[in-house]
Amino acid sequence: MTEIDGRATIIDGKAFAGRLVERVTAAAARLSADHGVRPGLAVVIVGEDPASQIYVRNKGERTREAGMRSDTHRLDAATSQADLLAMIAALNADTGIHGILVQLPLPGHIDAQAVLSAIDPDKDVDGFHVVNAGRLAVGLPGLVPCTPLGSVMLLKDALGDLSGLNAVIVGRSNIVGKPMAQLLLSENCTVTIAHSRSRDLAAICRGADILVAAVGRPEMIRGDWIKPGAAVIDVGINRVPSRDPVKAAEGKTRVVGDVAFDEAVAVAGRITPVPGGVGPMTIACLLANTYTAACRSAGVEPEPLAA
Ligand code: NDP
Repeated sequence: MTEIDGRATIIDGKAFAGRLVERVTAAAARLSADHGVRPGLAVVIVGEDPASQIYVRNKGERTREAGMRSDTHRLDAATSQADLLAMIAALNADTGIHGILVQLPLPGHIDAQAVLSAIDPDKDVDGFHVVNAGRLAVGLPGLVPCTPLGSVMLLKDALGDLSGLNAVIVGRSNIVGKPMAQLLLSENCTVTIAHSRSRDLAAICRGADILVAAVGRPEMIRGDWIKPGAAVIDVGINRVPSRDPVKAAEGKTRVVGDVAFDEAVAVAGRITPVPGGVGPMTIACLLANTYTAACRSAGVEPEPLAA
């Protein structure tokens, strides 16, 4: 963490993620050496969405850097749902593959929920399968969605014990908001989930010791919505025009979060930047989940990674 001019301490997600990846890499090497199991991740992408192509390439590179097997399956945009399901079935049966990730969004003719439900829950390293959502809800070991998992690791590193803190999560998606709420509940926070129908969102946010923004609206959370000293986790990734009007006219963009960072940094106690906060934790946790899934498939207790 870095403190700037007596303002909020910046939670350096990039540095934390780098350390986590080092631990995962070392643990995966030991799993391979001691038990003959090299963790393997298969990523499936359907179509040519440019952002998805970049995400998938990054995931493949990072998986290989961690010493794991990385398979990428690039399918044509016209691939039928039946063919995609057949590929998932083959990956479920492949004993060298411990994690399966289907890059979202899928083309409109494919039922994403049907595809996610077809993944073996024990290989569901995104943690999106209803079985893993259920395991999280009742406190059983499962695979936890990467972004909330990484966010809670950052919070525990920054604050230590989270017991009794008031946590407000803005956003109730199945991939971020809801699992985030479950994780913070299991850390003994008092959890409020806010969404587009919530009344007086600013007042709800002002009650938060921990404020998590997972909305997808650039800089929606203002500085005066934040309780002085609160920990702010900004999950949002939004592309907006460059600050420089000439560059903006050329179509150049920059990435901002769901929190107005310049205002928030003057009020919050701790805050994740965008970029460099939650984003790097997501891929680090994907590698961690692949390692965990590989251990479980071999009946080996995973080494603790979160420290
Ligand atoms: P979704 O669009 O699935 O969900 C957004 C949530 O925000 C919904 O629950 C919606 O409420 C709520 N919301 C929208 N507008 C408002 C508003 N005006 N006031 C209050 N609540 C509102 O998004 P995701 O959860 O998938 O993603 C959220 C953000 O996180 C995005 O910016 C995304 O890019 C980013 N993200 C970042 C990741 C990372 O690695 N850092 C990974 C995943 C996502 P309602 O349910 O009522 O519609």
